Amino acid sequence: MHELSITQSVVDAVCRRAEGRTVHSVRVHIGALTAVVPEAMRFCFDLVTEGTVAAGARLDIDQRPGAGHCRGCGADIVLTDPVLLCPCGSADVEVTAGRELQIVSMEVG
Ligand SMILES: [Zn+2]
Repeated sequence: MHELSITQSVVDAVCRRAEGRTVHSVRVHIGALTAVVPEAMRFCFDLVTEGTVAAGARLDIDQRPGAGHCRGCGADIVLTDPVLLCPCGSADVEVTAGRELQIVSMEVG
């Protein structure tokens, strides 16, 4: 379950930025190609935040579609999973979006 290590790094960053203040909510963008399961991440978030300033905080997850550019046929395609394959059959696809995992906002106070 790679969500645990990913969530740990998110919570570490959140706690550092909170600078001792209580964290009420955190919003993250997760690209479709990270293969992070939102339910698993929520579960890990509750575990990892225990005993930190983010304990009990709400986690909002926005899943972002992936995108790629096929070097074979030149098409820009939507990527919904980590299988990088253009409808033309080429696997020579350059990922342009979908691998991001960003903390976009957090509510502290
Ligand atoms: Zn193609």
